[in-house]
Amino acid sequence: MRDILANESQLFIFVINLFDKLMTSVGSKKIILPVVESHDLFKRAIGQSTDIVEKEMFVIKSGESDEILALRPEMTAGCLRAYLENGLFNKPQPVILHSSGSNYRRERPQNNRYREFTQLNLEVLGSDLPVYDYFVIDSAMKLLRNLQLNDVVLSINSIGCNDCRPNFRQKLLDFLSKKKDDLCGDCQRRLSHNPLRILDCKENSCQNITQDAPSTLDNLCSACEDHFKKVIELIKLAKISYKENPKLVRGLDYYNRTVFEFNLESDNTRQGSLGGGGRYDYLATLISDQSKAAVGVALGVDRIVNALNERGFVLPDIATVALICSPEIIGETFNIYSKISDKINVRFLPSGKSISAQLSELNKNGFDFAIIIGQDELKKDRFTLKDLKNGEQNELTLDELINKFDYESKTITS
Ligand code: AMP
Repeated sequence: MRDILANESQLFIFVINLFDKLMTSVGSKKIILPVVESHDLFKRAIGQSTDIVEKEMFVIKSGESDEILALRPEMTAGCLRAYLENGLFNKPQPVILHSSGSNYRRERPQNNRYREFTQLNLEVLGSDLPVYDYFVIDSAMKLLRNLQLNDVVLSINSIGCNDCRPNFRQKLLDFLSKKKDDLCGDCQRRLSHNPLRILDCKENSCQNITQDAPSTLDNLCSACEDHFKKVIELIKLAKISYKENPKLVRGLDYYNRTVFEFNLESDNTRQGSLGGGGRYDYLATLISDQSKAAVGVALGVDRIVNALNERGFVLPDIATVALICSPEIIGETFNIYSKISDKINVRFLPSGKSISAQLSELNKNGFDFAIIIGQDELKKDRFTLKDLKNGEQNELTLDELINKFDYESKTITS
């Protein structure tokens, strides 16, 4: 687990705020979920034999009781639990919810893989319509486009439903059993309880074997085939760059039908997907006595921020701004400060020194702009804005000042 220091944390907050803004604009409501849930929820939802449940969860024994809890390794299970527990299925369906926060997996720490990482989640609960598979994909793309990550490719597959998957599973087992000895150790174990996961194993030996394996897309029932076709039609219509990947199954057991991932074009190893998701129509029946169709996406903020840093992304207009004033009007300036600091990031530096002495200190301390309030400005209800890098100076009204520095309002595109 790592500390995220000021330069990076600003980007984290920027990405999270932008996500919140964009998801609200597409009709989603924010849900704040607990970081800790019952261990049992994840075992049932994600699947006993997945890497996450088998070896990656931080499990907590709570006090003297027998209750076993876990730090959440993902947010979908908690979000569906909240939807069921709070009776949100009684509202007009589907319910669209988004969330953000830390998740925990005890993975081997390496580049782009952390034990504490931040995810952005969007879930559409209570509908099996293919348009919502498209909706979550398009909404995630909206965020990535806004961040100028334009070379993102969508990898997409359908892994069928309870009608067609057993047939496919059997065909795959027949194919893989003959080559068991050549599979890696993990995949030899997967053969008995989770053979689909062998399809996206990263080991070369397994990838060579699965090259000729039966494909999920050739083995869908007509209802799943039709569902997938409709999702693809909408993706094409939106001109989202995509490729069908019949080997994509994802690491969590709860998915059915559509599964997808977002990768940067240059990343061939799929070690660094920026996000992924899929449909999980059977998850509600695994954790409750209800059946509810749903689809969702999770994006990794750590990986998005790393990609932005690699590309030299600079926060639009996030300048360091100081507010200074003549020593005799510090009280009045405090009043003005509380008004403008609601809208823009500014530091008030009250001082007994003259304005020119204060300006030279700001220059030394690396500030970009100074907002100056003297007796004259106070009388005229205006502000002097000095660009400390080039010395330019202008008189502005409050609205003009806010407009100049309110960078977030300028970054939303469709
Ligand atoms: P998953 O559902 O496991 O594919 O996770 C969705 C997204 O969360 C991934 O595409 C990553 O961007 C991010 N993510 C998952 N695990 C980690 C991790 N250990 N460290 C950083 N980001 C992660």
